[in-house]
Amino acid sequence: MLTLTCPYCGIAADETELSPGGQAHLTRFGPGASEEDFESYLFMRENPKGVHIERWRHSNGCGKWFHAARCTATLEVFGTYSAQTTEPPEELRKIISEKRPGWSWGASS
Ligand SMILES: [Zn+2]
Repeated sequence: MLTLTCPYCGIAADETELSPGGQAHLTRFGPGASEEDFESYLFMRENPKGVHIERWRHSNGCGKWFHAARCTATLEVFGTYSAQTTEPPEELRKIISEKRPGWSWGASS
């Protein structure tokens, strides 16, 4: 079972307390964007076997959204952090890179 620690209330919540929100850190395109960019924002998602950064909501707890970095193949959780960021914290990126050599933020997994 997947267990994520909510960065707001500190509770280690199992997946029955959480709601998935899909891929994190999507680039949103506004008026004037090309149709290809808007289509990409709406429909195109990464589906890696490996490191994935995701949005989760502590829906049966504090109710807040947060981000989690985990491995989709092993369910290993590298860490969770506030959703009020535009990229994973540097400390977390170091942890992931040490455990998954070759992985880097911004590159497809
Ligand atoms: Zn919480």
